[in-house]
Amino acid sequence: MRLIDGKAIAAAIEVGLGDGWPAGPPVLAVLTSAEDEASRWYLRSIQRAAGRVGIVVRVETLEGADGPAIADRLDALSADPGVHAIICETPLPGGVALAEVGAHIAPGKDVDGANPVSLGRLAAGLPAFAPATAAAVLEILRSEKVPLEGARAVVVGRSVVVGKPVALLLLAENATVTLCHSRTIGLADVCAQADVLVVAAGRAGLIGAEYIKAGAVVIDVGTNPGPGGKLVGDVDMAGASAAAALTPVPGGVGQVTTMVLMRHVTQAAARCLP
Ligand code: NAP
Repeated sequence: MRLIDGKAIAAAIEVGLGDGWPAGPPVLAVLTSAEDEASRWYLRSIQRAAGRVGIVVRVETLEGADGPAIADRLDALSADPGVHAIICETPLPGGVALAEVGAHIAPGKDVDGANPVSLGRLAAGLPAFAPATAAAVLEILRSEKVPLEGARAVVVGRSVVVGKPVALLLLAENATVTLCHSRTIGLADVCAQADVLVVAAGRAGLIGAEYIKAGAVVIDVGTNPGPGGKLVGDVDMAGASAAAALTPVPGGVGQVTTMVLMRHVTQAAARCLP
């Protein structure tokens, strides 16, 4: 089993972003509550990547804001011609759901696919920004030259940010897609049919040897706290020896996600949806 090098794939995307912005740097607004450790970590990773490619990051903290205040902020940023792209980090303060406020991000600036219109456009086969993690899964499969046309693809997890958009993107590549979730009966048997298995359940070690067909390509989106503060995925690496290739956690999907987000920002600045 080969480990897929997310860092190398991210580096290749970075090269493709070119150098310098003659019309001025793209500006990404990040709304964050900054109280959550994972949000702070993701923000730092965005700032590092943006710094390398010359994107300006404008951070706005949301402490104490409620749903209507966040919606107003997103409306103002959507109307601001000096802002090209907007993301809203989760969790939002006061338990506000992203689904409640995402509709206030203009679709042309919605670089992490938070507006339900973006998901609807994906479902309709129209140009739209997919959530960066979902787009990163497809980027990895493309970069690894995994045949998708007619392939059996199984996605574990049906969230709006990962599972559903990944399923739509795989369908657009003519894979035969099965979308699984916590009520799926016989999950191991369904997964064991997959040529391409994408796991985004957020359950450490859920996917053992009996879930993996010999020669399958396995993309592990899960990030879970492991022993000793280490980050672990949803796939039990020791049980994945039959796979042809697997994305490690860390060093797989996460690395690619940040750079895909940077590409989305440059596309938003150029007013060109993917
Ligand atoms: P989520 O909203 O909690 O959704 C989890 C999904 O997995 C749900 O659809 C749930 O089913 C399903 N599920 C949970 N336990 C299951 C089980 N035992 N068997 C089958 N399905 C099960 O999570 P998310 O936001 O999609 O994130 C998923 C994972 O990806 C998390 O670990 C998260 O940290 C990680 N993530 C990583 C990145 C990255 O860039 N690397 C980005 C985003 C998320 P139900 O719908 O039936 O409840």
